[in-house]
Amino acid sequence: MNNKPLIIANWKMSPTTLKEAEHLFSTVEKEIKKIKEVEVVFCPPFVYLLNLVTAVSLPPRRSSQRIAFGGQDCFWEAKGAYTGEVSPSMLKNLDCQYVIIGHSERRKYFQETDEVVNKKLRAALEARLKPILCVGEEARDAFNSEGRPLSEASLVIGEQLEKDLADVSLSRIREVVIAYEPVWAIGTGNPCLPDDAMKAALFIRKTLAKLYNRLIAEKARILYGGSVTSQNAASYIKGAGMNGLLVGGASLNASEFVKIIENAVAS
Ligand code: PEP
Repeated sequence: MNNKPLIIANWKMSPTTLKEAEHLFSTVEKEIKKIKEVEVVFCPPFVYLLNLVTAVSLPPRRSSQRIAFGGQDCFWEAKGAYTGEVSPSMLKNLDCQYVIIGHSERRKYFQETDEVVNKKLRAALEARLKPILCVGEEARDAFNSEGRPLSEASLVIGEQLEKDLADVSLSRIREVVIAYEPVWAIGTGNPCLPDDAMKAALFIRKTLAKLYNRLIAEKARILYGGSVTSQNAASYIKGAGMNGLLVGGASLNASEFVKIIENAVAS
């Protein structure tokens, strides 16, 4: 397993111009050149991907392995009459390595069910992309000291994992990154306590052990996402033992995002 913290920037539907997108990306890229022990994945809106990927591919930056790109979503078919959609192979052909699947905003605003999430996830794997599967409960909740969910709401995570990973083989599950994103913490400035994130990660590992085996559970890359800032980033990596972070709003502020990366690595 890659032990470097994995930090994902989810720009969502921002910024509004290519110029701003290029400026944001190049500022962060320049600042993090010196940081070796990290993998940073940029997930900009589709329309900016080509420009940003091309900027990194230009010599002498070709060897930059610490920076990767991902889509924020994809469709489950490879091509065809699906107006407005982007396929996993299109992302792969653009040199993307990752794709976010099942973000709570897609589940909420686009009515994506676990069945849809599962189809997208399997299609992404088929195209040799690494899916970043987002799971998380709607309401603020708690876990007991053994990492067992205390209420119905927390059972959501287990159910999502079971349904979203249906028919994902043992050989493919290794490519899946899981982001624990409690919905109540996303974009609210109200982050999950590191201790609760740790319990959620433990519960996710237990579920993976049940669905696959202990080795898969131990080696899985589990990220935390939800109101991450430079102030709290380290507490999830060091304190809660997460393998990385999924950062939304704060990834749109270059200096704040660089600090998040620095603090995650230093922890
Ligand atoms: C997200 O979009 O996945 C996210 C975690 O957003 P934010 O960091 O803004 O809470």
